[in-house]
Amino acid sequence: LFISFEGVDGAGKTTQVRKLADRLRAQGRTVVTTREPGGTPIGARIRAMLLTKDYESAAMGERTEALLFAADRAQHAAETIRPAIESGAIVITDRYLDSSVAYQAGGRELGQEEIRNLSLWATNNLLPDRTYLLDIDPAVSHTRFSGPEDRMESAGDDFQIRTRREFLKLAEREPQRFRIIDATQSVDDIAAQIAADMDSLMAA
Ligand code: C5P
Ligand code: MG
Repeated sequence: LFISFEGVDGAGKTTQVRKLADRLRAQGRTVVTTREPGGTPIGARIRAMLLTKDYESAAMGERTEALLFAADRAQHAAETIRPAIESGAIVITDRYLDSSVAYQAGGRELGQEEIRNLSLWATNNLLPDRTYLLDIDPAVSHTRFSGPEDRMESAGDDFQIRTRREFLKLAEREPQRFRIIDATQSVDDIAAQIAADMDSLMAA
């Protein structure tokens, strides 16, 4: 079983990944949690390249950025996600290919089909069984940031708004895979909603 969490920065994905993993482990299941970008040693290096604002020459090109996210995902799928699924674990990832469509197609305004196809090629067509979209107004989630902003977090309000909109479009296009969760609810209410959905997914 392969589960992804998606949403704009500060939506609460990391917290909910942890809560879901704890619950499943308490039920005796084997769970692997991971994240993008940076879910592998190679990915950690790609992540550092993507997030730094510290470039002496030109700013990173948007196609460069899209390819680096796809490269991170290729390694992540091959090295971490596929082997874990094959070993029988439940894999939960904090971001996956929908983030690329939302940020690089929605946010950066690159072609949506191209970005999706790039990720499908990168992962050899590995799609999640379930995707939880933690939906929230980025103006609200922005107040949850801690520490210095990375390159994307400082890309501006319009960028974040386009990204959120693209996530919602993706969820509407694939209602079987996606569940849209109102991420303004309390942590426990969100966790309970996800837990109930997971129970029905595993019973199916
Ligand atoms: O979720 P996390 O904070 O680890 O993501 C790192 C940064 O990369 C965030 O600022 C996020 O908005 C950005 N990102 C992106 N495109 C992706 C995935 C993440 O711009 N495909
Ligand atoms: Mg972030």
